Amino acid sequence: MKYHLECTECGSVFGSSYNSQICRKCGGILEVFYEGKFPRTNKIQNFWDMEAIMPNSNYRHYYLGNTPVIKSKEYKDLCLKLEFMNPTHSFKDRGSAIEVAKAKEYGFKEVVCASTGNMAYSTTYYAKLYGMRARVFISDNANADKIKDIKSVGDATITKVDGDFTKAQGLAIKYAYKEGAFLCGDYCYRKEGQKSIAYEIMDSNPKVKNIIVPVGNATLLSATYKALAEMESSGKITKMPRIIAVQSEKCQPLVRAFKNSSRIKYEKPDTMADAIAVGYPTFGEQGIEGLKRAAGVAVSVSEQSMASEQKRFMRDYGLAAELASVSTIAAYRKLLPRGESVAVITGANV
Ligand SMILES: [Zn+2]
Repeated sequence: MKYHLECTECGSVFGSSYNSQICRKCGGILEVFYEGKFPRTNKIQNFWDMEAIMPNSNYRHYYLGNTPVIKSKEYKDLCLKLEFMNPTHSFKDRGSAIEVAKAKEYGFKEVVCASTGNMAYSTTYYAKLYGMRARVFISDNANADKIKDIKSVGDATITKVDGDFTKAQGLAIKYAYKEGAFLCGDYCYRKEGQKSIAYEIMDSNPKVKNIIVPVGNATLLSATYKALAEMESSGKITKMPRIIAVQSEKCQPLVRAFKNSSRIKYEKPDTMADAIAVGYPTFGEQGIEGLKRAAGVAVSVSEQSMASEQKRFMRDYGLAAELASVSTIAAYRKLLPRGESVAVITGANV
């Protein structure tokens, strides 16, 4: 779809040829606004059928998305969406495929991102497919296996940062400005790609009442809300499901802000769930706004509960899932929401 970009901080408007995901006037994050009426999509057969609801570009149709939804073995009303069936074993691929395509379109030779692991793995993979170099800044809590994975899939220069994700993010932004690389990460184009999860969920079961997502940078949360709002406006769904946003008790800036009706404050991450160890979520305020509009809730779960869910997941399904992923099952167990629910199992890079 045709679109333009707007700065969420200063309100500046840019055309789709603006080759940045951050406002160069004020540093604020940009948002994609589509021009024209939103199309009512038919049942999605594969990820690229969703081009109709994405920013227009010359995408290459690599395999991804359309991940399985399986029934929980414990709860009859719970289904699990297995996002680790994507090429780099996490939901990040849905955003990287869009974002790196835009970088290519703008003529960049190199992409850069900050990451706790999965983002860099995915971005490096798509950079390789699109024939580009990648530079990644990894936070100090990233696990060693994720770093091995990044090295295995592409041409990335990896800098391990002495600090958390927020510090890595600052370095990635500086690098992008100084070296002329395209800044990838939890920004507007990734968010557009991640909307596809909610579309697939509603296609798999239009009666879903609750969608449960883990929150790191809150891109998936805000993308889920955006997708549901689009589906409502196009008449694809009549009632918006509730979104349940999950963080660890040891890193819950969004949950605290939601409960206290306050702005998000930075919180030093102290969680073992590295994929959601983000002290200041980039899309946090937008995520909270989405929760309010979707009558959603934000909940934190203990480290112990995620560890137990991870073992149970392996026992019940014979599959590995990372702690951040199974935080959604821990949240379901804690809240036992009414109606049919889908927990997004975001990744399996353990
Ligand atoms: Zn701005």
